[in-house]
Amino acid sequence: MRRYLIAGNWKMNKTARETKSFFEELSSHLTFPTQSEILICPPFTSIPEAHRHLQGSIVLGAQNVHAKASGAFTGEISLSMLTEWNVAYVIVGHSERRTLFGETDACIHEKIKTVLQGRLKPILCVGETLEERQSKQGAFAVIERELANGLKDISAEDMRAVTIAYEPIWAIGTGETATPEIAQEMHHFIRQWLNAHCNTAVAEQVRLLYGGSLKPSNAKELLSKQDIDGGLIGGAALEAKSFAELIRIAEELSH
Ligand code: PEP
Repeated sequence: MRRYLIAGNWKMNKTARETKSFFEELSSHLTFPTQSEILICPPFTSIPEAHRHLQGSIVLGAQNVHAKASGAFTGEISLSMLTEWNVAYVIVGHSERRTLFGETDACIHEKIKTVLQGRLKPILCVGETLEERQSKQGAFAVIERELANGLKDISAEDMRAVTIAYEPIWAIGTGETATPEIAQEMHHFIRQWLNAHCNTAVAEQVRLLYGGSLKPSNAKELLSKQDIDGGLIGGAALEAKSFAELIRIAEELSH
């Protein structure tokens, strides 16, 4: 059975001081370790403070990384700068990186390879816009292309370290959520893709997260779907109370 992964993507929110308050409040709501794996992806400058609060089942992630190990890349961050702080996961290809910062499938693929070579775990984000969903080509073709390009030539062994987040762009930060049926349908499609392109063991092991306005009021329905193994959460991960509530729901479903 796959263990739930409840991942908070703080985006460009929370200073180091606010990070401290978040963790203090989070531990007042929950007892750690939890059965679910809890991941916090703070902005880079808050990673050292978050690192101080890691305990039990809580791990640290980054929101981005540069594909190269070092060099003249003003404003970028390398994998070794992250590993010094015990960063375990790196989000790659978030739709905001794709649309606001021009990241292409090719660049995302390079980053996935860098993360895997450094023995960290990439979370590859895939998702379609509303126009793409409604177009003749449809949502499945978009997701298939993003999977094929992002995970090109990744060995079955390395695939075991990959997590895939299905984040329909029309549901990110909009309050609009994919119905559990729509989400499950796409997660199932992704698992079948893994089965066809890697093998059954990989397809069974890789965790598939749902992202897009996931919150306490809709989490139970979504997380109880067969192929949904957790969530990548933006807005609802900013408040310790609602994030703790999401973890509690995953804990209930783990029993
Ligand atoms: C995200 O940015 O990955 C996300 C899912 O955001 P939100 O939960 O706010 O929709």
